[in-house]
Amino acid sequence: MKSRTISLVEAFLDVRRWRMRSGVSDERTQLPIGLYFLETGSCEGCAMELDALCGGAYALEQNGFRRVLQPEDADWLLVTGAVSRRCAERLDQVWRAMPAGRSLIAIGRCAVDGGPFAGGYATLGGLAGLTRVQRSVPGCPPEPAAILAALVAFREGKAA
Ligand code: SF4
Repeated sequence: MKSRTISLVEAFLDVRRWRMRSGVSDERTQLPIGLYFLETGSCEGCAMELDALCGGAYALEQNGFRRVLQPEDADWLLVTGAVSRRCAERLDQVWRAMPAGRSLIAIGRCAVDGGPFAGGYATLGGLAGLTRVQRSVPGCPPEPAAILAALVAFREGKAA
């Protein structure tokens, strides 16, 4: 009986996710967009700005986002840092673990093109040279308010 209850709860959650992704949602079924942060090798300045974004000074959840700690729960992957050789496999693992409908967003110059770390022996460069990343937030580092504004614009389709 217990396992049946759990599967019903899981099925309900799956339906809510499906309704959101299928565009048939209404206000009661709106789920926040799950954000998974991944630092792939840099000075970590952009990663610290993302941490600040989750603090009380910024209304991340009130704007329809939430930080998730497992890639399986994530809708969008926010990458900071140049892609170091050591982190490339982890980046691939995280991306593959995310459910369908996922999106990749480069946060900060390093994540876009490697920034000052481009060309270094330990990095592969930024996401632009490795993937078809279509969304990015420029800056070195971008401020939390700028990151939040960009995320809202992405969600509303006002920015690529
Ligand atoms: S873009 Fe600037 S702040 Fe961000 S990780 Fe690179 S060097 Fe650091």
